[in-house]
Amino acid sequence: MQKAAVIGAGFSGLSAATHLAHQGFDVTVYEKHDIPGGRARKFEAEGFTFDMGPSWYWMPDVFERYFHTFGKTPADYYQLKKLDPSYRIFFGKNDFVDVPAGIDALCKLFDQLEPGSSTALLKFIDEGKYKYETGMHDLVYKPGLSVTELIDFKLMAGVFKLHVFNSMSSYVRTFFKDQRIIKLLEFPVLFLGATAENTPALYSLMNYADMALGTWYPMGGMYKIAEGMEALAKEKGVKFKYNSPIEEIAMAGNKVKCLRSDKDFYHADYVIASADYHHVEQHLLPKKFRRYSEAYWNKRVMAPSSLIFYIGLNKKVKTLLHHTLFFDEDFALHAKEIYEDPKWPTSPQFYVSCTSQTDDTAAPEGHENLFILIPVAPALHDNEAIREKYFNLVINRLENITGESVRENIVYKRSYAHNDFISDYHSFKGNAYGLANTLWQTANLKPSIANKKVSNLFYTGQLTVPGPGVPPSIISGQVVAEQVKKESMKK
Ligand SMILES: Cc1cc2nc3c(=O)[nH]c(=O)nc-3n(C[C@H](O)[C@H](O)[C@H](O)COP(=O)(O)OP(=O)(O)OC[C@H]3O[C@@H](n4cnc5c(N)ncnc54)[C@H](O)[C@@H]3O)c2cc1C
Repeated sequence: MQKAAVIGAGFSGLSAATHLAHQGFDVTVYEKHDIPGGRARKFEAEGFTFDMGPSWYWMPDVFERYFHTFGKTPADYYQLKKLDPSYRIFFGKNDFVDVPAGIDALCKLFDQLEPGSSTALLKFIDEGKYKYETGMHDLVYKPGLSVTELIDFKLMAGVFKLHVFNSMSSYVRTFFKDQRIIKLLEFPVLFLGATAENTPALYSLMNYADMALGTWYPMGGMYKIAEGMEALAKEKGVKFKYNSPIEEIAMAGNKVKCLRSDKDFYHADYVIASADYHHVEQHLLPKKFRRYSEAYWNKRVMAPSSLIFYIGLNKKVKTLLHHTLFFDEDFALHAKEIYEDPKWPTSPQFYVSCTSQTDDTAAPEGHENLFILIPVAPALHDNEAIREKYFNLVINRLENITGESVRENIVYKRSYAHNDFISDYHSFKGNAYGLANTLWQTANLKPSIANKKVSNLFYTGQLTVPGPGVPPSIISGQVVAEQVKKESMKK
């Protein structure tokens, strides 16, 4: 049996490990933390349970395909609930829309916001469906190792329908004029780490995911996905070594000889690095074996970092849903302060998740857990005083816009930002979501899953193909496992 070592137990590492074990490899995962999940870990404090990172469960078909590969379904590991309304958007004081689940209800909402726009919505969703099916069923599974992968008759025939060379921003405006509709449709690309102006309109596939496939929640929290994937990996024979940060990748010739942690040396025939790509290359691998230079990394457009507050309240709230977006400020300035002129934002938009609205296990009875996220530029100077300033800013805005007091009900509070992303995940510049999905960082233009200089070292995760987000990270693990299998069969 060939041995494979996976560095990191985030979604990409869990997926790579399980696929490799399914293919007959003897797999061990080495993880720095004491639990799986990576950026999707959870923590518990004073009766509250917080998902630390992702909170939006979109693209349920990707999770179904993943578990089906191994003869399972998501329901074998967690129970999904469809959210309806999917989310609430505040545009100003007491001015909000609830975005409903289901196309008919969405058509009614669009007609209220912009009379007659439901016809355009149906066309917009239909075009998004084509992109979703081509993108998520085909393009994302390509390893990005050769341009010939993209020479595919079906793909070429439909290339203009993918709108790769239009921007999301101009594309949305060809359908709609109402500013609230435009904000609603441009918001999903925030997940991709770039502005709507710099994101190819291919990614209106995200709107299809949002509006046609729905927003779901795994009861017990997003961490349930990681727990389920870990359980499945163990069923397949994967071994896990937690509290095992890898400190060095030791070489023999052009092959990895072993991994060194603070405790031991681990030998493997293949190594799959799912920890942040930049960290693995620049800090674990000897210089002459690095595929990319520091200058290369510094030229990458990173997705934003985040300033997050995990808050426990000793009351129930009436004005927040499970997902609530505060789009009361102009995003143009906030976006400029993330992407063009990186600095702490003057007046940011923000997002609040309140899972205890759906899930009684997330907070003690009569209490509520809030997760407040402000997208911010990577590589900012981060300290307690700055965090506190933004804490006061968002709490004041939240109270003012919703008309509901929360400050006096806060019984638990923890903040999380750049310094934590760096110390917890060795994150490059403290990024939260990896690389931005700009046109020049799409598919084959991303850092490669293979290292040309090291024959048995591969990379997976949100800094390589297909990109950031929970579903793409899971797919990334599958893509790399297939590549490792191909390589091993050459021998
Ligand atoms: C705040 C936040 C909100 C998000 N919201 C969403 C959302 O709502 N929906 C969505 O789909 N996506 C969301 N994302 C993105 C999504 O969470 C990530 O794209 C995905 O989890 C990345 O998985 P990964 O396996 O690539 O990396 P990671 O989760 O970072 O996993 C890498 C693992 O490697 C480990 N590691 C690092 N260095 C070492 C080392 N030297 N030795 C051993 N182990 C090491 C780390 O501890 C970690 O466990 C969000 C991310 C963040 C941060």
